[in-house]
Amino acid sequence: MRRASSRGRVLFAIVALALGGVSALGAAHAQEKAAKNVRAEPALGGSALPPPVTERLTLIADRDDDDADDVPDGLAAFVAPAARVDLVTLDPRFAGATLSPARGREHTRLVANGKLFGWGERLPQGAQLQGLSPGRAVLVARWPGGRETSIAVDVHGVSLRDGQNRAVDMATERASLQRTPPARIDLDDVDRPYDDPDALRVVVTSPEGASLGPITAESIAADGARLDSTADLRLVPTSCGAGATSEIGCLATAPLRFVVDDVDRRHALVAARSIKAEVGGAVVVRDAKGKKLQAIRVGGPRRTAAGPIDRYRLSIRTIVMRLTPGGAPAVGSTDAGAIAALRQELAVASATWGQCGMTFGPVAQLDVKVVNPPPPYLVALGDDVGLPASGGEVRLRVEGRPLTFTTKRGWSTRQAALELARVAERAGLKPSISENARISSGAAPSVDVLLRRADGQLATAELLSSSDATMSVGIGAVDLSDGLQHFGDTDSVAGTIEERALVKAVDDGDPRTIEVIVIPFFGGGGRIGESFIGSDGSSMRNVVIVDRAGVRAQRTSLTLAHELGHVILDEPGHPDDYGIDMPTLLMDSDASDASPFGPRRLLADDCARALRQSGPGARIPLLTEWKLSPLKYPNR
Ligand SMILES: [Zn+2]
Repeated sequence: MRRASSRGRVLFAIVALALGGVSALGAAHAQEKAAKNVRAEPALGGSALPPPVTERLTLIADRDDDDADDVPDGLAAFVAPAARVDLVTLDPRFAGATLSPARGREHTRLVANGKLFGWGERLPQGAQLQGLSPGRAVLVARWPGGRETSIAVDVHGVSLRDGQNRAVDMATERASLQRTPPARIDLDDVDRPYDDPDALRVVVTSPEGASLGPITAESIAADGARLDSTADLRLVPTSCGAGATSEIGCLATAPLRFVVDDVDRRHALVAARSIKAEVGGAVVVRDAKGKKLQAIRVGGPRRTAAGPIDRYRLSIRTIVMRLTPGGAPAVGSTDAGAIAALRQELAVASATWGQCGMTFGPVAQLDVKVVNPPPPYLVALGDDVGLPASGGEVRLRVEGRPLTFTTKRGWSTRQAALELARVAERAGLKPSISENARISSGAAPSVDVLLRRADGQLATAELLSSSDATMSVGIGAVDLSDGLQHFGDTDSVAGTIEERALVKAVDDGDPRTIEVIVIPFFGGGGRIGESFIGSDGSSMRNVVIVDRAGVRAQRTSLTLAHELGHVILDEPGHPDDYGIDMPTLLMDSDASDASPFGPRRLLADDCARALRQSGPGARIPLLTEWKLSPLKYPNR
């Protein structure tokens, strides 16, 4: 709030002294003073002149949504405490006086304790003014006994405009993260439309002759911490648009890019107009003194085929495998190092998916565990082409004790699995049956029987012999010392027996969470990540496996974000498989480039597909809506 100047106070004192409490005389005197006063406002048509201006206030048209109720604060029927940050509290000496607008009443309103307060009513202590629209208002304050004075109120607008010169609603729309590689623009031509769905210009609208001075943008993270800020933004005169009066003038900045990381922030083409931002956070426009002017929340794209996207949360469990039981974790030399490395990698993937308004939640709350590789606990029946049984006896040793079951001629893999489960249960074990997707060359799906001890821990099994000539029996064991044996083209839907033994050991049984499993390396070389997606119909779904190299590759290929993309989009293919070779796309199969032109972007169509395939309305919803809650913007 700007206080009355000392000159204003002196004038006020003289008027008060001269009036001596005679109201009729006071009013006449005040009018005379107003006519002579150099700062007098223009006269209103025909009516009496307002008393001289002794106070000047600057307000911002309050169109943002600081209490996150999706209603612009200036339209709220009650101004909640969180939304009062942009209001200006009147000086205590106005308590007991009344305020009436002499002009420009549409530009401001009175609020007391959040409640709307009528013009002409006696002002309580702490009454506040809220800006509604850009323009100039003159308010006449009258004390009991007849003292009067005028307050001039300049209401400035601080708003946002997109590439099509459309106004962006700061309460109901979001600033979205940059999905377009850097491009050069003409910084002086602020009226020219631009082809970037995310970047926004800040537009400052001021009453004729008034100025807000320099402005900066500041970015607040979802947890309220300061994330980034810009130097003073260059303001260039621009059109105020159709229907604007000559009472106001407008200035605009270059289109601001809200970017995920320093790679995008620092590129020479865009460094002056980029600011790091985060889904769930906010971009705050401040004046030179650091006072908050207006803010917009950061969310997903404003326009997609599935509508605007605010914020969604993805639930991810991350499991870092040890090389051997009790041994070193797959990444980082210690458990704490592994957890820190994975949280960092998950934060990068989360920020990348922020382009679609999708986040994994606060980094410190990300679930990362370091676990031992499982014992050989999985009995795979028909783990090749799923041929039926021809009858025979299968002899196993489980937890050191013999376990034998017999198959009958013509039994399916599933019937054999049921028989094994029955026998195992009788032996005091806790078996569970897990059917696999049928591979392309398979006669029937193979079936796995997972053996657990009575205490729920995975059991150790060994195959002694099988006399069934057609139905194969195998034990799934995980040996990470020679790399994980990964799927090829024919068994990709079911995964290899080693992959299944690994994944099924850590599965939490909740298909709405994504499991990320980190291994030392894949066998055979070349691969650094793979994913199992929902549409395969496998019991193994929504799982991503990355290796050490995939974690280290970090920003050059965003391996984890890419592999998660297959799961979220429920799409095994890549855009380049369909002839769309855009190496800047995250889902491109082979691009590797650490610059902002590398594989990191998501298209609005990707975001819409993600919502369709994994949103709350999907068969298996991976994404849950995460409503924005109010953020505090500390004054600097
Ligand atoms: Zn891929």
